[in-house]
Amino acid sequence: MGYRKRMGQHFLRDPRVADRQVALADVKEGDVVLEIGGGRGFLTERLAAAAERVGARVVVIEKDPGLAGMLKDRYGYHSGYGSVVEVIEGDALEIGWPSFSLLVANIPYVISSPLTMKVVEAGQRKGGGFRRAVVMYQLEFARRLAAPPGTREVSRLGIKVQSTHSVRLAFRVPRGAFSPPPKVDSAVVVIEPLENPPIIEDREVFSTLADLLFSRRRKKVANILRPGAIPWPLGEEGWMRLREVLGTPRERTWRTTTDADEKPMGEKRPERLTMEEMVYLANTITSFLKNGG
Ligand code: SAM
Repeated sequence: MGYRKRMGQHFLRDPRVADRQVALADVKEGDVVLEIGGGRGFLTERLAAAAERVGARVVVIEKDPGLAGMLKDRYGYHSGYGSVVEVIEGDALEIGWPSFSLLVANIPYVISSPLTMKVVEAGQRKGGGFRRAVVMYQLEFARRLAAPPGTREVSRLGIKVQSTHSVRLAFRVPRGAFSPPPKVDSAVVVIEPLENPPIIEDREVFSTLADLLFSRRRKKVANILRPGAIPWPLGEEGWMRLREVLGTPRERTWRTTTDADEKPMGEKRPERLTMEEMVYLANTITSFLKNGG
């Protein structure tokens, strides 16, 4: 069975798309570009050329042994690219990543969510962090990932990613840019760490809250966050404070963006909450956990 059939992937064949991805990455001297899923090297080749021009390096992680071998032969240590490209055979979701400043990925869409979480976590590594990630997604997925809080298309993954990173849909990619063409259109998304991310006291609480709210997104927030329905022991005082936060109009210390923000948080559906409101909710919950309820 060929690579395509086994892994279900679609290889890029339109050089304009690959060139735009490389241009978006904007490789600079000293950069380490991590490429996930090198495939037959359509992007690797362009990344290597850009890296060689400015004095940067490319590290490629490719899961398929046959393709990894081919990448090593063509772009690896003994090829014309000298030591610019390092090819690692392995599953990008399983293995540890080297430190990198840029990430470029055209990956199979079944791993879009876990790969994105891994990118974001890598961005939060102590002393690590990256400048920019340029990732190809299925168009609908890209739209939801980039949709700002407070809008219909917002997703729970989007909320988590946007709490630390900016997400921008850079350009659409028609299915004909791939061989064989997939059934859906794609889009390239740019992800960058926020300069001033909101202060989230406990990321686990924030993440669990996002899961809770967005698994019941048609309900009102006050109906989701009820005693017995949330996994945190809040105590009486905590519940009083939470009810107060849910029931009162937003405090004026926050930036007000739309009229809808004037509604009490508890009266809204989760998709109408702003990032500030979700962070405030999570931090309120966290403060009572710390105080022991
Ligand atoms: N980047 C190439 C291109 O644009 O033509 C290949 C794209 S193809 C959609 C995805 C590539 O990712 C395949 O070569 C596949 O073997 C590889 N791949 C799939 N899952 C992977 C994983 N978990 N870790 C690393 N590579 C993976």
